[in-house]
Amino acid sequence: MSDSLKKEEGQMKLESIQAAEQKLMLQTYQRYPVLFVGGNGVYLRDEQGVDYLDLLSGIGVSALGYAHPAVEAAIVAQSKTLLHTSNLYYHEHTAELALRLTEISGMDRAFFCNSGTEAWEAALKLARAHAGVLRSEGKTIGTKFLAMDQGFHGRTIGAVSTTYKEKYRAPFAPVMPGVEFVRFNDVADLREKFSNEVCGICIEAVQGEGGVRPASQEFIAAARELCNSTGALLLADEIQSGLGRTGEWFAYQHYGIQPDVTTLAKPIANGLPMGAMLCTEEAARAITPGMHGTTFGGGPLVCAVAIAVIDTMKQTKLLEHVREVGGYFKQRLEWLKSRHECVAAVRGMGLMLGMEIASEELATRAASEMMQQHIIVNRTSETVLRFLPPFILERSHVDITIAALDKVFSGFTLKSSVLASAVLAGE
Ligand SMILES: *Cc1c(COP(=O)(O)O)cnc(C)c1O
Repeated sequence: MSDSLKKEEGQMKLESIQAAEQKLMLQTYQRYPVLFVGGNGVYLRDEQGVDYLDLLSGIGVSALGYAHPAVEAAIVAQSKTLLHTSNLYYHEHTAELALRLTEISGMDRAFFCNSGTEAWEAALKLARAHAGVLRSEGKTIGTKFLAMDQGFHGRTIGAVSTTYKEKYRAPFAPVMPGVEFVRFNDVADLREKFSNEVCGICIEAVQGEGGVRPASQEFIAAARELCNSTGALLLADEIQSGLGRTGEWFAYQHYGIQPDVTTLAKPIANGLPMGAMLCTEEAARAITPGMHGTTFGGGPLVCAVAIAVIDTMKQTKLLEHVREVGGYFKQRLEWLKSRHECVAAVRGMGLMLGMEIASEELATRAASEMMQQHIIVNRTSETVLRFLPPFILERSHVDITIAALDKVFSGFTLKSSVLASAVLAGE
C-alpha cells in the first residue's frame, strides 16, 4: 500500500472511531485526535505507522515502556495458569509482592486494589478507623482531614473530597465533610489548622496534577511532628511519585521522613490496573477481617506483573538510571529556561519534571506543537508542561526533546504583559 493510501485509510479509521465514541461514550475526556495501535520502548505508534516519543507514558504508568519482554513474559505465563481467585483464597503471588513492597517502602503491611483512587480511599478509611481505635483507648482524636492546596487524590467521593480543585468537587456536592485545605508548603498555616480534631494529614511529597511541586523539607517535617503529637496518620500519596519515578523508590525517602500510610498505583503493574496501600503495624491494627475488601484487587495476574516490574527495576538498576537521566533532563530544561523568557521555572526530581510556562495559551501551544513533531508532552495545572517519561528513557531522547522544545519556544513572541506574569510566577 502506498504511504498516502495508508494515511488516508488511517485517517478514516480514526474519524469513524471518533464519531462512534462521540455518540456512545460518556463524555469524560476530550481526546487528542490520534489513534495508537502499538508501542515499543519509549515510542508509541499510531495507525499510520508514525512513531511518537512518549514523555508521558500514559500519565506515569508505562514505566518500563511498551512491549517490555519481562512484562510480556509475566502476562503470558500467568494467563496460562490462573487469572482470578477472589480474596477468599490464597494464591502464590500476594505475599511475594507484599514482601517486595514493604522492603522498599519501610512499611509493614500491604493492601492491594485496582486503582490509585481506590488505594487512596483505603488510606482515608484506615485513618478514620485508626482514630476510632485510639478513641476506644481513651485518646482524644477527631475525624477531620487536612489536605493540600493543589493536591490531587482521585475521583471517588472520598478521594475528591481531599482533592483541591473546585471543578472536581463542586458538581458532586455534597462531598465528604470534614476536610480542610492547607496552603502547600506553608508551615504556619499547617500548624494553625492542625488540632486533635484531625485524624490524618494528606500529602503528596511531590504534587503531580498540581503542577510538579515538591514539598519543602520543613513542611513534611512539620506534618510528621504534628501527627506524632496526637496519633493522627501521615498519609503520603505516592500514586504518581512512587516506585522509582523520582529516583528513589518513594518520594518521601528524599526527605528522610517515614509516613504512616502510603499509596501506590500508576506504574506498579506497567499498565495493568492495580493499586496498593502500605501502612505501619500501628495503623494496621485498625482493620480486622470483613471491614474492607475488593473482589478483583491483588489478583494473581497483576501481582505477577508487579513482581516482574520490581525485579526488573532492581536487576537493571533503574533507580540509578532515573536519577542519572532525570538529572541530565532537568539540567537541559534549565538551559532552555536560560534561553527563553517564556519559561518561568523548572521543577521536580528524577523523571518527574515540570516546566512552568508564562501563560496558559503558550503552554497549550507548546504541548500541541510538540505533538505535531510526534513528541508527547502533557500540560497540567494550566501552565505547566509535565514530563513523566518511561524510566528507560535515554539521554539521546532527552536531546531530541530539548531540540524540539528549543524550536517551539523560539517561535513564541512574547507580549510584555505575558513576560511580567512569567517573572511573577518564577521562583
Ligand atoms: C493519578 C493519581 C491518583 C488517582 O489514581 P487513579 O488510578 O486515576 O484512580 C491519585 N493520586 C495521585 C497523586 C495521582 O497522581
